[in-house]
Amino acid sequence: NKDFFLTLIGQGGVGKSSLCGVFLKDRFSTSYNPTEEEFYRQTIKIQNKIVNLFISDVKASGDSLSETILKSQGLMFVYDISNKESYDEVCKLYRKIIDSKSCEFITKILIGNKCDLVDNREVSFEIGMRTAAEWGCKFIEVSAKNNDKVILAFTECAFAFIKS
Ligand code: GDP
Repeated sequence: NKDFFLTLIGQGGVGKSSLCGVFLKDRFSTSYNPTEEEFYRQTIKIQNKIVNLFISDVKASGDSLSETILKSQGLMFVYDISNKESYDEVCKLYRKIIDSKSCEFITKILIGNKCDLVDNREVSFEIGMRTAAEWGCKFIEVSAKNNDKVILAFTECAFAFIKS
């Protein structure tokens, strides 16, 4: 069995807890409850390999990066497609992390959440694609609310990790 430590990074409110909730328990809650840090664990099977996925959801605020981010093997960068500020914030967090930790060997994925809110879209699909290309990672637009591509996002990330 392989252990894979994955951390979700992004501004508060983009839907990190919701994505974890949907992936782990297939549940979506409409209440917003800001949390400092949460850990979840799930065992998944990918290409006949058992992967113990440890997922944490951190608030990357302040100047110092948390221990959790520093020891992660995978980073899921999340923004909200209906909130341009959340996109700017995730880019800032990305730069801050690569400045302090070598990201080269880390599995990364860029996620545009809340793709159900197309009518309020502030970040185009193309910008997401271009950003992910610059970072050398995959990009997926998902909706935790509609359980659209959420499982795919986590499995793609775990798949990229076992291939690395
Ligand atoms: P976090 O602070 O990043 O963990 O964000 P939460 O998971 O707590 O979500 C913040 C708010 O956004 C909550 O009210 C969620 O119900 C809502 N939300 C999360 N994902 C989606 C989504 O895909 N679509 C829509 N419309 N709302 C979402």
